[in-house]
Amino acid sequence: MALSGLEIFKKLPKTNCKDCGFPTCLAFAMQLAAGKVELEKCPHISEEVKEALSEASQPPILKVEIGAGNDSFVVGEETVMFRHDRTFVNQNAFAVTVEDDMDSSKIEEIIKDVNEIAYERVGQILKLDAICIKNKSKDKDKFLEVTDKVASLTKIPLILVSSDTEILKSAAGKFKENKPLIHAATADNIDFFIALGKETGCPIAVRGKSFEDIAVVTGKMREAGIKNLVIDIGSRDFKDDYYNQIILRMAAIKQKNRLFGYPTIVFPGEMTDDPLKETLIASVFVAKYGSIIVLSNASHQNIFPLMVYRQNIYTDPRRPMQVEQKIYEIGSPDENSPVLITTNFSLTYFIISGEVESSKVPSWLLVMDVEGQSVLTAWAAGKFVPELIAQFVKKSDIAEKVKKKEIVIPGYVAQLQGELEDELGDGWKVVVGPREAGEVPKFLKEYSA
Ligand code: SF4
Repeated sequence: MALSGLEIFKKLPKTNCKDCGFPTCLAFAMQLAAGKVELEKCPHISEEVKEALSEASQPPILKVEIGAGNDSFVVGEETVMFRHDRTFVNQNAFAVTVEDDMDSSKIEEIIKDVNEIAYERVGQILKLDAICIKNKSKDKDKFLEVTDKVASLTKIPLILVSSDTEILKSAAGKFKENKPLIHAATADNIDFFIALGKETGCPIAVRGKSFEDIAVVTGKMREAGIKNLVIDIGSRDFKDDYYNQIILRMAAIKQKNRLFGYPTIVFPGEMTDDPLKETLIASVFVAKYGSIIVLSNASHQNIFPLMVYRQNIYTDPRRPMQVEQKIYEIGSPDENSPVLITTNFSLTYFIISGEVESSKVPSWLLVMDVEGQSVLTAWAAGKFVPELIAQFVKKSDIAEKVKKKEIVIPGYVAQLQGELEDELGDGWKVVVGPREAGEVPKFLKEYSA
């Protein structure tokens, strides 16, 4: 559990020597608690205190990285039970299953789909995160062959699942540079996995059917210095697994129990044969609290709603999504094209720009920085008002780009029309556009006719 500044201060030398660049130990402690400075900046901390502080300053659910290089992903680092308490930190990963007894052509088709899935939504690219390869054949050569094939077809991280430790040892040894997640250590094979973890550095999934089972394995792993763990407490029954996820999160966050302070993996694809039910189950684990969600297939109708839902859950409510303040060219506008203005809330921008695009009327879209608020919110907050809009329009060089000094404002702020014309001066005319984005294409076609 993260320490407060005062708790950290109590462990510092309290000499106020300033070697860390701060005037006092207290000032340094406050910055350390806020995560703005590294512990190493103080050269006078003993090894013992250093260890205590670095352990205590870690989040209650540890960060675990799966994969290597640019395509790796990070899960964990969560600090709250509910999104409205603060925010969720690292979004869950979605993995798609490949079984090693599938036809080669089927495997190629799955990997092709996984590589191609990329939806752009409000400025973000929504993609799949991992491939989970299951050793259904129980055959070592087959598993290695399929893993080799998948690794050659995609760069996204792998999750290697087998009940045979020797097969996992061969696969982890061969693909250790890719840092796959190795599934799974249990109370029966713990020494084997401690050796494997130390040798390969690969993250390890810990499987147990009860909290006691999990605690035994994570406890021994911690003692051995292995902390890049992911917990699988699944019985593959939705009701049980849902309950387990909540208890695990409570144990880590509320009770600060380090033995349960790891990201989790869940398998909705093993809880039902019905694709629709699987998607519904997966959506529950997006919110509560699956860190890696393994799906049985990569069909678009299942993946897309899950990704959009994940994007909503993991958006930081304190930071509105926003786009850059500038003049956006939609189509290939020229000196006769209409000029519209809106705010830089991502959703507003993408909806309006999409409607302008579908109108097929090339246009200039001025997007004004109002700290990511929508039109009405920004107006109510005094950020989208005539004086500020006029300043922005004058500073942009839109007047150099068009012959007609006319600007279309959103219909919801029609009341700004007269005052904005006064503020703009210089012959500018303000036109009131539609209130709803869906009416923009019709409006533009008539306006530019
Ligand atoms: S270097 Fe260490 S002892 Fe010196 S002021 Fe900074 S925190 Fe205190």
